[in-house]
Amino acid sequence: MSEAYDVVVIGAGPAGYPAAIRAAQNKLKVACVDEWQNTDGSFAFGGTCLNAGCIPSKALLESSELFQRAKDEFAVHGIKVGGLTLDLQTMQKRRASVVKTMTNGINTLFKANGVVGIQGHGQLLAGNRVLIKGADGTEKTLEAKHVVLASGSTPVRLQSVPHDGKYIVDSWNALEFDAVPARLGVIGAGVIGLELGSVWRRLGSEVVVLEALQEFLPMVDQTIAKEAMRHLKKQGLDLKLGAKVSSAAVKGDAVDVLYSDGQGEHSLQVDKLVVAVGRRPFTRDLLAQGIGVQLDERGFIKVDEHCRTGVANVWAVGDVVRGPMLAHKGKEEGVMVADLIAGHYGEVNYKVIPSVIYTAPEIAWVGQTEGQVKASGRPYKVGVFPFAASGRARAMEQAAGMAKIVSAKDDDEVLGVHVIGPMAGELIGEAVLAMEYSASTEDIQRTIHAHPTLSEAIHEAALAVDKKAIDGLNR
Ligand code: FAD
Ligand code: AMP
Repeated sequence: MSEAYDVVVIGAGPAGYPAAIRAAQNKLKVACVDEWQNTDGSFAFGGTCLNAGCIPSKALLESSELFQRAKDEFAVHGIKVGGLTLDLQTMQKRRASVVKTMTNGINTLFKANGVVGIQGHGQLLAGNRVLIKGADGTEKTLEAKHVVLASGSTPVRLQSVPHDGKYIVDSWNALEFDAVPARLGVIGAGVIGLELGSVWRRLGSEVVVLEALQEFLPMVDQTIAKEAMRHLKKQGLDLKLGAKVSSAAVKGDAVDVLYSDGQGEHSLQVDKLVVAVGRRPFTRDLLAQGIGVQLDERGFIKVDEHCRTGVANVWAVGDVVRGPMLAHKGKEEGVMVADLIAGHYGEVNYKVIPSVIYTAPEIAWVGQTEGQVKASGRPYKVGVFPFAASGRARAMEQAAGMAKIVSAKDDDEVLGVHVIGPMAGELIGEAVLAMEYSASTEDIQRTIHAHPTLSEAIHEAALAVDKKAIDGLNR
C-alpha cells in the first residue's frame, strides 16, 4: 500500500528543506526525499549548498583567509608568528565537520517539525504520485496532494575539457583537494571560480583564471568590479580576460590547456584544472514521461511568479527554476510555496535579492547597478564612501573598498546598494531591509548607526548621495 501525504518535496537542498519544514509548520503531513550521496558514500540532506557549495566553500575561505592574514598582516598589528605552517589535513577535516554538523542539523529540524525525511531518488508520476527508489533497490510510491520539485542544479561541463575527477575537476572536487596544487587553472571568473581561486591562492597555489568575457564581473556594478579586480590581481590571481578555453587534456601528472585571446592561441600547463563555467538545472529522471511539467530551452522547469508549474498542485523552486542560482532565493521560494499550499499569503520580491561574493575584500550588492539605472533612463544620483575613511575598518586593518548607493533623483528611492569591503555580505542586510520597505535615501541618512562600525559606511554613502557626507569627501 502506498503512503499518503499532503506534500512531498523532491530535493532537500536550501529550496526543498525549508519548503518541507514550513509545510509541516503549517500542519500539513510532509515527506522530503533526497538522493545526495557524499564522496565517502554517506547520504546527507542539505543539497549542493550544505554539502558541496556555500558551506564548505565558506569554511575554506575563512581558514585560508586566516592563514593569509597570519602570514601577511599579523606583523602590522605587532603580532609576530614564527614558523607558520599549513596543516591542510586539519583544515579539510574542519571543513568536513562543519558540513556534517550542518547536514545533521537538517535531520534534527525534520524530526522536530515532523517532516518524514527519506533517502532515495524521487520521480513524479501521473496523478501526483512520487516513486521512490532507495539506493538498495527498494521501491515505494507516495501519494501526494501537492508535490514540490526542488532538484537543484549541477555544474556545467565543457565538452572539450573532459573531467577525470583528479586533474580536471568541478567545484566540488576543488573543495576537497588533499594537497595544495602548485599550479592551479580555473576556467570561469564567476563567483565560484573567484572564490575557489582565492582559497588556493592564499594557501600557496599559483592561480591562473581564464575568462572568456572581456568584462570582469558583468553583473556587478562596474565601480565595484574594477576595485575587485585591482585587489584580486594584487593578491596574485592571474586573471586573464577575453581568454576562451578551447580544450584541455590530462598529460601525465599535469593538464595541458589550450585557450585563445586577442593575441591568438596559447597553451598553459597546470597541475589541476577547475571548471567553473556555471551551473545548469538538474532534472535527470525527475519526471515520468508525459507528466506535463514543461522545461524551457535551457532545461529549467517553467513556473509562474508563484512557482506553479502548469500541472495542478505541482510546484518547483530553487536552482531548477528561473532566477538567480542562490540558496536564499530558493529558500524564500520554498517557504512561499509551502504557505500558498496551506492557503496563506506568499510572495517573493525578486527585485530585492542580495548577492555576495566571498572574496577578500568581500563584494555584496542588492538592486540595480549604476549601469542598469543609467540604461533605464531614470535620472539618478550616486554616493560613495571609502572604507579608508572608516575608523572601524582602519582599526581592523581592513580599509580597502567602498560602499556605493545609487538613488533616484525624482523621489529619492534607493535603487541599488553596492559594497566591496570587510563583511560586505553582512552589511548588505541593512540595504536589503531598506529596499524591501522602499526606503528613500533620506530614511537611511536619518537612521542612527553605531560608532565605530562598518555600517557607518552605508550611512555615509547615503549622505554622500546628497553631498552631505560628514566623514568623507563629497566628490
Ligand atoms: P540543491 O542545493 O542543488 O539541492 C537539490 C537536492 O535535490 C540535492 O540534494 C539533490 O541530490 C537532490 N535531488 C535532485 N534530484 C533528485 C531526485 N530526483 N530525487 C531525490 N533527490 C533529488 N549560493 C549562495 O546563495 N551563497 C553562496 O555562498 C553560494 N556558494 C556556492 C559555492 C559553490 C562552490 C557552489 C557550487 C554553489 C554555491 N551557491 C551559493 C549556490 C547554491 O549552492 C545553490 O543556489 C543552492 O544549493 C540551490 O538550492 P536548491 O535546493 O535549489 O538545489
Ligand atoms: P558563472 O556563470 O557566474 O558561474 O560564471 C561562469 C563564467 O565562465 C562566465 O563568466 C563565462 O563567461 C565563463 N566561461 C564559460 N565558458 C568558458 C570557456 N570555454 N573559457 C573561459 N571562460 C568560460
